[in-house]
Formats: sequence, C-alpha cells, structure tokens
Amino acid sequence: MKQSKLFTRTIKELPKDETSFNAQVLIRSGFINKTTSGAYTFLPLGLKTHNKICDIIREEMNAIGGQEILMPALTPKSIWETTGRWENFDALFKLAGADDKEYALGATHEEVITPLAKDYIFSYKDLPAYIYQIQTKFRNEPRARSGLLRGREFSMKDLYSFHKDEDDLNKYYDIAKEAYFKIFKRCGLGDITYLTYASGGAFSKYSHEFQTLSEAGEDTIYVCDKCQVAVNREILDSQKNKCPKCGNSKLEEKKAIEVGNIFKLGTRFSKPFNLKYTNEKEEKKEVIMGCYGIGPSRIMGTVVEICHDDKGIIWPEAVAPFKVHLLSLGKDEEAEKLYNQLLKEKVEVLYDDRDASAGEKFADADLMGIPYRAVMSKKSLAAGGVELKKRESEKSEILNVKKMLEKLRM
Ligand code: ATP
Ligand code: MG
Repeated sequence: MKQSKLFTRTIKELPKDETSFNAQVLIRSGFINKTTSGAYTFLPLGLKTHNKICDIIREEMNAIGGQEILMPALTPKSIWETTGRWENFDALFKLAGADDKEYALGATHEEVITPLAKDYIFSYKDLPAYIYQIQTKFRNEPRARSGLLRGREFSMKDLYSFHKDEDDLNKYYDIAKEAYFKIFKRCGLGDITYLTYASGGAFSKYSHEFQTLSEAGEDTIYVCDKCQVAVNREILDSQKNKCPKCGNSKLEEKKAIEVGNIFKLGTRFSKPFNLKYTNEKEEKKEVIMGCYGIGPSRIMGTVVEICHDDKGIIWPEAVAPFKVHLLSLGKDEEAEKLYNQLLKEKVEVLYDDRDASAGEKFADADLMGIPYRAVMSKKSLAAGGVELKKRESEKSEILNVKKMLEKLRM
C-alpha cells in the first residue's frame, strides 16, 4: 500500500480527553479513532492488526475442533430473564424496540447459544460440540478510560463447549487452556501472560484468567515465581495467601490486564434452558458446558502497552499491519521498483512515497511501529542497496534486494 493513498495520517498532538497510553499512541499513529468514550473506529492500519489477532485466534480455535458461527448482538429480554441475568448482569446495555419489547445488546452469549444448541443437540452422538464466534460485544462499563483495554463496544471471541459429562469437559478445558497459551505466545505476550486462578462459581473451585503483566492493568494479581501461575485478588483469601499449585507462600503483587477467561459452567445454563441429551441407556441427562472468552481488541491495546518505546509502537511481526515500511528518500524510481518487487513476492509492505522530509518519514515509521524499515536513498544506493533496520534496533545494514528479500522471508 502506498502511504500517499492511505486514508489516515499521523497526528502530532496528543488527543484531548484520552488518558490511556494505548489509545493515545494508536490514535496518533492512525490505527484507531475515538467516536465516544469506550467506542473506537478501527482505521485501515488498525483493522489489519485487529484482523491478524482474530485470525490467530481462529486458527487456534479451529485446531481444537471449534466451528465458527455468528450470533446476533440484538437479544430479547426473555432469554436473560430465564437465567436471572436481566437484573444481575451489571453492565448489560438495555434498549426498547419499536414493538414495545425490551432487548439487550449481547454482553456475552450463553443466553443465545444454549437455546440454540437445543435445536441441534439431542443425543450423546451429538456430543461433544465446540462452537465459537468472534463478535462485537457491548457492556455499559462505568469507567471506560483505558482505551482498547476497556471498551463499551469491544470484540470478543467466545467459544462454548457442550459435553456429556464432567470428565469430558475437564479434558477439553485443558486442551483449550493450552490453545490460549499458543494464542498469547503468537501475539507476542507469551512470557508475561500468567494462568491466574480466579473464583469459579458453583460448578468448579476455580475459573482461570489469563493475565498479562502491565502497569496499565486494572487488575492486581499475586504471582508465584516458582510455577508461573498467579491468583486473583478475590481468591487470595480463600487460598490463605498460598500458590494453589505448589503451596508457595511468597507471592508477589503485580498489576495485570485480563486478556482471557475460561470457565467450567457445568449446568448453570443448560438447567434453566432445559438443554438435555439422551445417553446410551436412553436416559435424559443435562448437557455439561464450558465457556472460553478472549478479547482481540483488548489484546491489541495490551500489545501496545507492552511493545513500545518513547518514539512509538513496536509491533510483534505476527500482528503488525505490514511487515516492512519502505521509505523513499528522494529516490522514488528505485523505491517504486523495489515496492513492486515486494508486492510480487507477497511481502506486506507500506511504501512511504509521500512528498515529505526524511525526518517526518522516520518519525512516522517509528510511531507506526512496522517491524522492518527499509530506506532507499542516494546514500543507500551508493553503498550497494537498501538500508534495512528492525524497528527496535539501533543498527541498520545495507543489503542488496536479493539479500533483503531473503532476510524478510526468514
Ligand atoms: P473485566 O473484569 O476486565 O471487566 P470480565 O471478566 O468482565 O472483564 P469476561 O466476561 O471474562 O470479562 O470477558 C472475556 C474477555 O473479554 C476478557 O478476558 C477480556 O479479554 C475481554 N473483555 C471483557 N470486557 C472487555 C471490555 N470492556 N473491553 C475490552 N475487552 C473486554
Ligand atoms: Mg473475566
């Protein structure tokens, strides 16, 4: 893509009334735009990154048997009344329809998927089933001051699993846990994301959150340095301040962002909706359920909180909008040739072909944070090619086009 044609441009001034770092830098670099508190437009660059995160999640969910669907965001009051959550779900966005009925904008989808499953799950032969969606969720969050970390409108992948018994749920739950770690690793958050024990509800002692260490986080967790797990503040007491895995009592308090949450639901939803199946002995049994949530837009904000320096974002390659940012410094013909070659080789490239100063181009490249910067200038050509630099590195190297392509393919 040519930067001269890009719909957006970078902004020098800090956006007004935006206090969170991730939103400030994403707005300045032209990735997102604020519509109102807690609701953002994903611009061409931002949407590319968001889609990459969603695709990573999709791949890992498909790999553990997930089948993707898309449920409506508009949901009737009656289903929320069935589970008692019309009154009890704090942040539910409620609205009135023209038919005098009331509705909620989906904040989560157990109330939609459980009655849906009744149309397709009848016997043990229909189990297990793993169904997910990636969709916009709505929550009337009282404090939407953390940019993409806490939207009133945000993206969520929610998978629901249906099982014949607890044993089958337990097995799948562990498989899903591993898939979540793969997702965070691929998004560049692997080493700093902790499996965190949180309160579980009626069916299991714990649920598990995935918490990424960050000073921008709104959660406080207690980390066990021995086994790379943590506990949430609200269960710390019941745990008598000990690691639930190894019993270690030296837990360290840290700030963190909840990027995912998985839950053994048991019959919490199958009971009120009367979701049953017939087992091998022709007996009717309640279906056992699990749910697995993760926030792509929150992950995007988290990556920015973690991966940056004072000049701007440093995207991990897997979620960067482009792999290489090609800057032409007065050598447009040669740069254009290289740009076309990169396109032919299917290297994702943003080509800064604008009539702008070198300083402006360098500053924008640093702000946008594309992993590689390739400079085509009189100097680089005299030295034998193009000057390639990784975003986070101080050092650059001159490479001919062939070598550069080899390097980018690695
Ligand atoms: P929090 O405690 O931060 O409000 P939650 O526990 O209510 O989150 P869940 O219902 O577990 O959130 O949602 C699953 C996932 O969706 C979260 O782990 C997070 O990644 C994402 N998520 C939840 N709320 C938001 C939000 N307001 N903005 C962006 N992402 C969110
Ligand atoms: Mg949660």
